[in-house]
Amino acid sequence: MTQLEIRGLAKRFGGVQALNGIDIAIDGDGITGVIGPNGSGKTTLFNTIMGVHKPTAGQVIWDGRDITGWPAYRIAATGLVRTYQQAMSFPGISVLDNVSIGFEHGCDRAAPRRWTSPESLLGFVGLDGRGDEIAGSLSFGNLRRLGIAVALAAQPRMLLLDEPGAGLNDHEALALRDLILQFPGMGMGVCLIDHDMALMGAVCSRFIVLNFGTKIADGTPADVLQDRKVLEVYLGE
Ligand code: ADP
Repeated sequence: MTQLEIRGLAKRFGGVQALNGIDIAIDGDGITGVIGPNGSGKTTLFNTIMGVHKPTAGQVIWDGRDITGWPAYRIAATGLVRTYQQAMSFPGISVLDNVSIGFEHGCDRAAPRRWTSPESLLGFVGLDGRGDEIAGSLSFGNLRRLGIAVALAAQPRMLLLDEPGAGLNDHEALALRDLILQFPGMGMGVCLIDHDMALMGAVCSRFIVLNFGTKIADGTPADVLQDRKVLEVYLGE
């Protein structure tokens, strides 16, 4: 089983200990949510896994390989791919070209090809018939879909989703939920951060809770949301 293993991961920014020795193992067949209050280290965790930040200490092991500090493009080529809060597509070229770039130069050569063409991938994310539109002219919700399509074009075996639900309306959030729920069946593990607890509760089989850069709970959503430490953080109980 493909696994992402984080060992003793720490990241300090000046006087701020953003991550304080985190240990996590994530299997490649489930949907894991990372939750925690603002400033608890969620985004720093993703950025440190994906080579945006060099960790102060600790290791990131993916599929048996130590990828600590590798640049994101090199990590993506091993099947671990992320999306960004801001859509990272090229706004000046067509929707289809955005997806084709990843599709053709695609990343993980060993991964199964789940879509036979860039067009079929656009259809999968709900952008059927929009391939000729300029990416920058898409609505916010469709731009998000494109961001996911660009990530999927790399044929990931694990996908890190950074606040995919932020700013979506109810209809779009439901479509996103249905999309994410399909990933494990396609051989893709998912780890996501989002503030939309309805979305998180609907898709995640596991919650990891961060507070002040420390993992304070890890388990099924039902167990985690009854955990005393978690209730203290969220409800001040
Ligand atoms: P979350 O995603 O849970 O809201 P972050 O990972 O963004 O939390 O932030 C964790 C802590 O690290 C916060 O105190 C934040 O101010 C700090 N931090 C994050 N990124 C940087 C950075 N690039 N430079 C300095 N401090 C940062």
